[in-house]
Amino acid sequence: MAKENNSNTPKKPRFSSWWIYGVVIALIIGFQFLGGGSFSNTEKTTTSALEEYLRNGDIEKIIVIKNIGQAKVFLTEAALQKEVHKKVSEKPLIPATSAVPQYIVEYGDLQIFQNEIDEIKAENNLNTIVEFDTESNVLGELLLSLLPFALIIGIWIYLMRRMSGGAGGGAGGQIFNIGKSKAKLFDEKTDTRTSFKDVAGLEGAKEEVQEIVEFLKNPDKYTSLGGKIPKGALLVGPPGTGKTLLAKAVAGEAKVPFFSLSGSDFVEMFVGVGASRVRDLFKQAKDKSPSIIFIDEIDAIGRARGKNNFTGSNDERENTLNQLLTEMDGFGTNTNVIVLAATNRADVLDKALMRAGRFDRQIYVDLPDLRERKEIFEVHLRPIKTAETLDLDFLAKQTPGFSGADIANVCNEAALIAARKEKKAVTKQDFLDAVDRIVGGLEKKNKIITPEEKKTIAYHEAGHATVSWMLEHAAPLVKVTIVPRGQSLGAAWYLPEERLIVRPEQMLDEMCATMGGRAAEKVVFNKISTGALSDLEKVTKQARAMVTIYGLNDELGNITYYDSSGQNEYGFTKPYSEETAQKIDEEISKIIEEQYQRAIKLLDENKDKLKELADRLLEKEVIFKDDLEKIFGKRPFEKEEPEEEEEKETAE
Ligand code: ADP
Repeated sequence: MAKENNSNTPKKPRFSSWWIYGVVIALIIGFQFLGGGSFSNTEKTTTSALEEYLRNGDIEKIIVIKNIGQAKVFLTEAALQKEVHKKVSEKPLIPATSAVPQYIVEYGDLQIFQNEIDEIKAENNLNTIVEFDTESNVLGELLLSLLPFALIIGIWIYLMRRMSGGAGGGAGGQIFNIGKSKAKLFDEKTDTRTSFKDVAGLEGAKEEVQEIVEFLKNPDKYTSLGGKIPKGALLVGPPGTGKTLLAKAVAGEAKVPFFSLSGSDFVEMFVGVGASRVRDLFKQAKDKSPSIIFIDEIDAIGRARGKNNFTGSNDERENTLNQLLTEMDGFGTNTNVIVLAATNRADVLDKALMRAGRFDRQIYVDLPDLRERKEIFEVHLRPIKTAETLDLDFLAKQTPGFSGADIANVCNEAALIAARKEKKAVTKQDFLDAVDRIVGGLEKKNKIITPEEKKTIAYHEAGHATVSWMLEHAAPLVKVTIVPRGQSLGAAWYLPEERLIVRPEQMLDEMCATMGGRAAEKVVFNKISTGALSDLEKVTKQARAMVTIYGLNDELGNITYYDSSGQNEYGFTKPYSEETAQKIDEEISKIIEEQYQRAIKLLDENKDKLKELADRLLEKEVIFKDDLEKIFGKRPFEKEEPEEEEEKETAE
C-alpha cells in the first residue's frame, strides 16, 4: 500500500479569528462592569451632602432615575471652580461623549427625597431643574437578547465542522469545503510506487489495463490514428481480490497521479454535495492530467436509478450519479483523465454508466486459483523471514477460496504468531495456524463446554462427515474439528469442486450433507438441538434459491423471481401472488424435509461407523481425511484429482 500523501510543508502558526471575537467580547464585558465610570470623575455622595450643595446653590440640575433609585447631580459652572468640588471638576482622561454628572446619590425613598428638595428649593428660592427619568442597561439587554442567536449559530458551526470531516483544520475541516472532493492523491513523485510486479496472478486483467498504461504514457500513438481512448474501465470482482492494487499499479506504471476515493465519499447528508464533489474531483484530475481517478465501491452511487423512490433519500445519490455521467461525457479524449472504478456488484449498476464512452470496459478480477495463490504467496512472503524454504504449493492448496487480501493477511498473521512464540523465524506450522485462525476465528481455549455438549458436537460433526462421505455429489472432506473457534463450536471442512453449472442432484446432495449434523443428533440421541442453526440457514437459502431463482422445482416450473437489476431489493411488493407464495413455502419445506429424512436413513444404516467416528473425534478433536478412510474404507465416489475450493461447515 502506498503511503498516504503527506505534504511536507511545515504547519504555519494558525491565526484564529476566534482571537478577535475574544478580544471584542472582553472589551464589551469590561465596559459593562465599569459602566463607563472610568471615563469620568463621577463620585458617589450622600443625600445630606447633596442637600448642602443645593442650599449653596451649586446644583444646576438633578435627574432622578426612578428605576434604579439614584439621582444624577450636575453642578453649575461656578460651583465647579469651588474647592469642595475640586475632585469632580477635573477633566476626565478620555472625554465622555454625553454629559456626565458630577455626583450620584442613592436617595432611598423617592417621596421624602423629592419633598426635601422641593423644600430647600422653596426656602432658598432656587430654580434648580429636577427631572425624572428611567435608565436601562442598553448594552446588557442587547447582549442578553443576542445570546440565544449566538448559541444557535455556535452549535451550527460546530456541527458543520464535525460533518465536513472533523475540526482538524485543513481543507476538510472547513464548512466552505464541504463541496470539495475527498479524494486522496497519490503523487507519482512522492509516494512509493506500486507496479505490476506487486500484483500477482490476474494475467488477463493486467493485460487489459496494460493498454491504459500505454495510452497514458504515449497518447499520440493512439490518437494520431484517429482512435479514441477508453475513458473508463470497471474492475469487477469480490472484495480483496486486488482491484485497488491493480488500479494503483496502473498509475504507478504510467507514472501519473492517482486520485483514490470511495463511492460513499461523495454522498453527505447535504443535498447537492455529491454532485459538487464530483465536479471538484474531475477539475482536480484535469489540472493534474494525465491522471487516473479511482472510485472504489462505485455501486454506492452507481446503482440503477429506480422509479420506486419511496423515501426521497435516493435523490442525492441520483444527482451524484448524473453528475458523474455528465463529467465522464464532458471531458474529451484529449484531457487524458481515465476513470477506473471497482465494484463487486456490476449487476446492479446503472446501464447508463456501462454504455460505450463511459465505463466501456469491464475487467473481471476473480478469486485467485491455485497457481495464482502461489504467486500471491510469493509476493507477500518477500518481506517475511521464514525458517525453512516453504512449500508454496502446499500453502496454496491449504487456502482455497482465499482472496489476495486473505493471503496477505495469512502471511502477516503467521509472522505475528511466530513473534508471539518468541521465534526467530516463521515456520510452516505458524502459517497453518494463521490459516485456521482466519477461516475459523480465534481458538476459544477457555470456552466452557460440558462433556455432554461436547459429545453432541462430536456426533453432529461426525454426521456431516459421514453423510458427505456416502453421497456421490457431496464435496470431499478435508478435516473435521470440534475445537471451538470464533462463533462455531466445531466444523467440517470440504473441498468443493468449482462448478460453473450446478445440477439439482448436486444441490440436493449438498443439502443432505448439511442436514447430516442434525440427523446424527436425532439418530443417536433421539433429540435435536439449536446447534444446527447455521446449517438450517444454509439449506433454507439453498432450497429457496432452487425454487425461486434457478427454476429447478417441478411444481413451480421454469420460472425465476430473480431481478438482476437489484431494483426490487427496496420494494415491498412480491413479484408473485399469495397463492404462489404459499406454494413456494411448501416446496422449500418439502425439499429440506426430504433431505433430512434421507440423511437420517443413511446414518441409521451406518450407525456403528458414525459412532466410531464420533469417538475418535472426541479423543483427537481434529481428524483428517485419512482417519475417515480407515473407518469407512475408500470413498466410493472419489474423483481422481479433487479440485480446490474449500468451504466451511459449522455447527453453532
Ligand atoms: P479490493 O479488490 O477490495 O480493492 P485490494 O486491492 O484493496 O482489494 O487488496 C487488498 C490487499 O490484498 C492488497 O493491498 C494486497 O496486499 C493484497 N492483494 C490482493 N490481491 C493481490 C494480488 N493479486 N497480488 C498481490 N497482493 C494482492
